[in-house]
Amino acid sequence: MSAHAVEQATAAEQTRLYDVCDYYDAESLLTGDERRVLGRLRSFLDEKARPLLADHWERGEFPAELAQPLIDLDLMEPAELTAEGPARGIYQGFRIFELARTDASLATWYTSQAGLFRTAIRVGASAEQQREWMPKVIDFSLKGVFSLTEPESGSDIAGGLATTARRVQDGEGDSWILDGAKRWIGGASTADVLAIFARDVADGQVKAFLVDREAAGVTLEKIHGKTALRMMQNAHITLEGVRVPESMRLHNVNSFRDVAAMLRAMRSDVAWIATGIQAGAFEAALHYVTERQQFGRPLGSFQLVQEKLARMLGNVTAALSLVVRLTEQQARGIYRDQDSALAKMQTCLLMRETVALAREVVGGNGITLETDVARFHADAEAVYSYEGTHEINALIVGRALTGESAFTR
Ligand SMILES: Cc1cc2nc3c(=O)[nH]c(=O)nc-3n(C[C@H](O)[C@H](O)[C@H](O)COP(=O)(O)OP(=O)(O)OC[C@H]3O[C@@H](n4cnc5c(N)ncnc54)[C@H](O)[C@@H]3O)c2cc1C
Repeated sequence: MSAHAVEQATAAEQTRLYDVCDYYDAESLLTGDERRVLGRLRSFLDEKARPLLADHWERGEFPAELAQPLIDLDLMEPAELTAEGPARGIYQGFRIFELARTDASLATWYTSQAGLFRTAIRVGASAEQQREWMPKVIDFSLKGVFSLTEPESGSDIAGGLATTARRVQDGEGDSWILDGAKRWIGGASTADVLAIFARDVADGQVKAFLVDREAAGVTLEKIHGKTALRMMQNAHITLEGVRVPESMRLHNVNSFRDVAAMLRAMRSDVAWIATGIQAGAFEAALHYVTERQQFGRPLGSFQLVQEKLARMLGNVTAALSLVVRLTEQQARGIYRDQDSALAKMQTCLLMRETVALAREVVGGNGITLETDVARFHADAEAVYSYEGTHEINALIVGRALTGESAFTR
């Protein structure tokens, strides 16, 4: 390599965002503008968010003071990136990665609007509804949540969905009456509307409705006592005779097939979260073993510790390669159930190992909130289960491989 080339490579290295955890330089796929937006996010997270995380995690409260400044960062469709169209998938992936690398609840809070709710509107709303709602979704002036899971139906929600929708035409106009319950709904307590999936009693098909959080008949209860994602607020929602006008029904959702199309598009976001969590845990562990001394030497100088560092880096690199490739494929318009299911399943398996190794090399301090790894270690368990458990994603891949559905419904 010429002296000039070495100089150029060194300059690029110095300005890299992910010089530790992105070993094969996936970030080189980002444009300069995209990296600048992510750099701004990094500064905000380091300066304003990080100092609040341990305390809020322990108290089980979301740091509400971060919400508006995060919205103001204009991350969903940043003006400087969207002159010629919507933000690219690779930028969106790294945005989630950056958030999750700092904290899984912050990433989940952001993707519940930018991923789940936005996808519900993008896939489920008619063109006219999208014209009205999408700009408000993007600037967060219409905050929404994705309410699919029920107390008695998680993995088998397609067949088991029991919330009902009954159409009525009376003095109050063309509307629907919803009855049922939803469980685990992330961010519901601060949302304007709840996207509720319910079964039409007339044709048995699943439909979707935007329900005002404060509508008569809606009750929200916080789920207490969580040991993962403690900062993220999850709600148990009860719906008793809730009236929703026909205009608030998502007109393009006419069966569970349409819901499946949403899940297919959203699952890759979770794979990016699982990748970011690993990066955060690995970096925190690496920092710790460089500082902490035992037997008169840094922990990081011991062979057995270095083996664990290498495995963590291998996992992060494998996960990042996987999500980048999936995102490139989706950018070409290829969306298959098995692709995002495989990515969610595999990145979560790698994540579970990475956070456990990180916790291990930090020793006793790895179970305190001081070093960050305990938070990543605990939070990983929620990510492992939400938006399709390991088993359900494996069954989706298995069905594609064999042509045989092993689901029992
Ligand atoms: C923190 C958190 C946030 C969430 N946020 C949301 C949200 O915003 N919106 C929303 O709608 N939902 C949300 N969920 C719900 C989530 O998607 C469900 O928890 C998930 O789909 C699993 O459902 P379940 O918990 O009812 O587990 P269950 O379906 O009861 O499964 C329990 C276990 O049995 C296994 N299992 C089930 N069926 C089979 C089978 N056929 N073969 C083999 N094994 C099987 C599962 O893999 C799992 O290991 C959230 C969950 C959590 C924990």
